[in-house]
Amino acid sequence: MPEPIVIIGAGPAGITAAVQLKRLGFNPLLIDSRGTKGCGLVRNGFRVENYPGLVAPVSGTVLMERFLDHLSRFELNVCEDKIVKIKQEKSDSYVLVGKTDNYQAEIVIIACGTSPRKLPLELTAEVSPRVHYDLVDFMPRLQGAFANSASGSGFSVFGQPGQVNADLNKEVVIAVGGGEAAQDYSLSLSQAGFQVKLLVRGNRLKGNMHLRNNVVSNRSIDLYFERNIEKVVRRGNSLEIQTRRKNQLEIWQSDNMVVAIGRQVEQLFELPRELFAKRQIQTSLPGLFQIGDFRLGSLGQVGMAVGDGLRVASLLVHY
Ligand SMILES: Cc1cc2nc3c(=O)[nH]c(=O)nc-3n(C[C@H](O)[C@H](O)[C@H](O)COP(=O)(O)OP(=O)(O)OC[C@H]3O[C@@H](n4cnc5c(N)ncnc54)[C@H](O)[C@@H]3O)c2cc1C
Repeated sequence: MPEPIVIIGAGPAGITAAVQLKRLGFNPLLIDSRGTKGCGLVRNGFRVENYPGLVAPVSGTVLMERFLDHLSRFELNVCEDKIVKIKQEKSDSYVLVGKTDNYQAEIVIIACGTSPRKLPLELTAEVSPRVHYDLVDFMPRLQGAFANSASGSGFSVFGQPGQVNADLNKEVVIAVGGGEAAQDYSLSLSQAGFQVKLLVRGNRLKGNMHLRNNVVSNRSIDLYFERNIEKVVRRGNSLEIQTRRKNQLEIWQSDNMVVAIGRQVEQLFELPRELFAKRQIQTSLPGLFQIGDFRLGSLGQVGMAVGDGLRVASLLVHY
């Protein structure tokens, strides 16, 4: 039997929509390319303090685990598949082409968030696997820290910025970017025991003051401004990162690099960009909706994604 409602993406927006639709009597199918293992961008977050209702701040991983618990409470699962194309069959039905399967739907809710902006450089096959854009994919050591934080109180593993796990050797890792995500990543890396060298293209850190203060006062994060990356090559077991400042070539070495230089909406499922351009929850195609960061772009927050998830469910009651 075809599933009438398919939600693409099990981040905060998609999960909220699925739970609310279930409560309203629908039976949506929720699909995520990462299954439950790494879904939701906020999983990368060092500490979430702006989401209402939390007794104390929690790591992004913990918050995402709570979203997934909420899903199971309503007996909803996440189907693991990556949707690559949406085809309109008739005027009111769609086929979603996944890497594993195809899905039929009368209602499609796109909640697939954003993708990281990549370094504007040609990277060779031996360099690329060491350049990371998502923190949860990086380093078993860090994944261990995330996993522990999920089972515990949710914040103690990361501790307070400035405190570093003394029992770990201080391996240097190069981080790149001057926005909130790069700063957030640097705090997580420092807490996981790395000495972070954060390379910023501009001459200041952007984003909220609270985050900036935490980064600046953290002894495990060294800041380097006006560093534009020109080249990354492999040297033995390490990466050699070349930057130029005032015509002076500089060379940095690190086994891995973590890059956060912005995010963008690029997954359009082979549909025309104009369909989504007005940034309204209901697109100009019947039964096709967009919510969360996919709709809002890189300015999204968890609270906004949740709001969109609730809104789309209430729109569908009268659809
Ligand atoms: C480092 C960092 C820290 C952050 N900290 C905070 C914070 O403290 N507070 C806050 O409010 N916000 C924070 N954010 C922002 C927050 O993470 C996002 O606004 C929120 O996750 C958006 O939710 P979403 O459901 O729209 O999208 P996402 O969370 O991005 O979820 C999209 C889901 O879709 C899946 N997907 C993508 N493409 C496909 C496809 N083709 N097929 C199937 N599945 C697909 C992805 O795997 C993903 O699970 C932070 C972001 C980052 C990067």
